[in-house]
Amino acid sequence: AKEGGKRRHAVFTPAMRDSIVRRHGLKEELARAIEQRELMVQYQPIVDIETGKTVSVEALVRWNHASRGRIPPVEFIPLAEDTGLIVPLGRYVLEEAVQSVVERSDTLLVQVNLSAIELEHPDLIPTIQDVLRRSGIAPERLVLEVTETLLVKDAERGAETLQQLRDLGVQLALDDFGTGYSSLSYLRNLPLDTLKIAREFVEGLAFSDHDAAFVRLIVGLAKTVGLKVVAEGIETRAQLDMLREIGCDLGQGYYFAAPMDVDADWHAAPASAAL
Ligand code: C2E
Ligand code: CA
Ligand code: CA
Repeated sequence: AKEGGKRRHAVFTPAMRDSIVRRHGLKEELARAIEQRELMVQYQPIVDIETGKTVSVEALVRWNHASRGRIPPVEFIPLAEDTGLIVPLGRYVLEEAVQSVVERSDTLLVQVNLSAIELEHPDLIPTIQDVLRRSGIAPERLVLEVTETLLVKDAERGAETLQQLRDLGVQLALDDFGTGYSSLSYLRNLPLDTLKIAREFVEGLAFSDHDAAFVRLIVGLAKTVGLKVVAEGIETRAQLDMLREIGCDLGQGYYFAAPMDVDADWHAAPASAAL
């Protein structure tokens, strides 16, 4: 048993090698993908649960690799963060998303994900200023989505950066709320506009009293402190009904619409016809 234990730590399997080789290859190809615009942006509606209307769209990056096919963001975003390529990637998504939304609507909001690496980068504030100025979008129509990981390394500096962004007039949403290191002190100290309830909670909503209790708590909390609240990952009518009963104002998920290409009809939230 002792030997086995030892061996477990030393083993380097072909699968591990393949994974490292793939990661290495993808890292090199990602730089090219950004230059050659192999990346694109899709948009997922965020819907007013009462009216069924799309009020915002979240920009989600896509990599359609010429030979490897679609590579999911959960695979290449971490690589982009490791290599620093997340900075040009993030700038591309931001420019593209803001431009697309401005061209298509006078009122829709647009939500863009910011990784912790981007938040630490000294160019962030000038970049946002530049995008706002050149697009002419009203700053409050841009919603930057951040996660709590931005506060892990240096909470004070993270909070300062958020305040600087807020001072530009943009809105801030805390993504995946309820997972990770959620702390009430973040809600108290960060200049947030919106909480996004993590899909994990929404998943169990219709069959787990326990999960429903947490969603109820988060929605109540958000409302008490004056934050908007978006439920993520709504896939069923039953989940939507529960959220409506709980008083959650906004929702996002396959039940309304999956992420869509820029030229699709973002207002078509098909399943909401049953509202
Ligand atoms: P996220 O920000 O939490 O984005 C929501 C994810 O949930 C998206 O996955 C979306 O396609 C998926 N989703 C939406 N509705 C449903 C649903 O009803 N059910 C289920 N099961 N999933 C749903 P996606 O596009 O694969 O992105 C994964 C993550 O990658 C994002 O999670 C975000 O953390 C990151 N990401 C995506 N685009 C960007 C980007 O442009 N910049 C940065 N920094 N991160 C990004
Ligand atoms: Ca997000
Ligand atoms: Ca999320």
